[in-house]
Amino acid sequence: MNILITGASRGIGRQIAIDLTKSGHNVIANYNKSEKDAKLMQEELKKENYEIDIYKADVSKRQEVKSMIDFTIKKYGKIDVLINNAGISQEKMFTDITENDWNNMLQVNLTSVFYTIQEVLPYMIHNKAGCIINISSIWGLVGASCESLYSVSKAGIDALTKSLAKELGPSNIRVNSIAPGIIDTDMNKNLSKEEINEINQSIPLGRLGTPKDISKSILWLINDSYTTGQIISPNGGWVIT
Ligand code: NAP
Repeated sequence: MNILITGASRGIGRQIAIDLTKSGHNVIANYNKSEKDAKLMQEELKKENYEIDIYKADVSKRQEVKSMIDFTIKKYGKIDVLINNAGISQEKMFTDITENDWNNMLQVNLTSVFYTIQEVLPYMIHNKAGCIINISSIWGLVGASCESLYSVSKAGIDALTKSLAKELGPSNIRVNSIAPGIIDTDMNKNLSKEEINEINQSIPLGRLGTPKDISKSILWLINDSYTTGQIISPNGGWVIT
């Protein structure tokens, strides 16, 4: 399958890109600022005889998203799977959030998903097949103190997932969200050892998640054929809705 994944230079996206490539898929791994990391991933895979495309685009800019999709279609003819993983987070009291924070977070986390899906859809509809996976978060499900803006952006993604599953089902396009719990990546590097220990104790499975945990869910969802409109949350049992 031809798979485009956004935000694949680091963290969760990087692991997904590596695992999908090693599973035999053609992967186009998007990055923005971390060119060194993206190139390193490509070189490391090459050493093991795997090919991966890397493509620089700021997903919050429509024209850059369009160029990335054009590149993919030109090279592979179609896109079977779109994984919207790119995202940023910010911790702030609600009263401290500026208009600039608000607009930037929504642009990067939510509007980018509007752009990628709109640009990819004509090709998926033409093929009468497609799988779209949006990475949201447990915070979109239950809300997070001092991360209200991030939570709003992720809840927006989940609402889009549910709506598009209904709208695109007749075109044989499945749309789902993966809503991870706390995953051990750069996004959580501000947590102290004590904080991590405390969180671990409150998670039924007793540990933070790893990028590999999320990549396994993605692999399952890609190979599935009857799941759509669902918010699947690998979170160690921390949030049970
Ligand atoms: P991370 O380690 O900080 O990596 C974020 C990735 O997103 C990077 O590859 C970054 O690329 C990319 N990115 C950010 N802004 C971008 C932009 N404008 N255009 C293109 N790429 C952009 O974060 P992570 O933990 O892997 O998170 C991945 C996704 O999972 C995010 O959507 C996040 O909200 C979600 N999530 C994470 C957790 C967690 O606990 N870690 C939990 C729930 C959900 P560059 O560095 O190249 O710019």
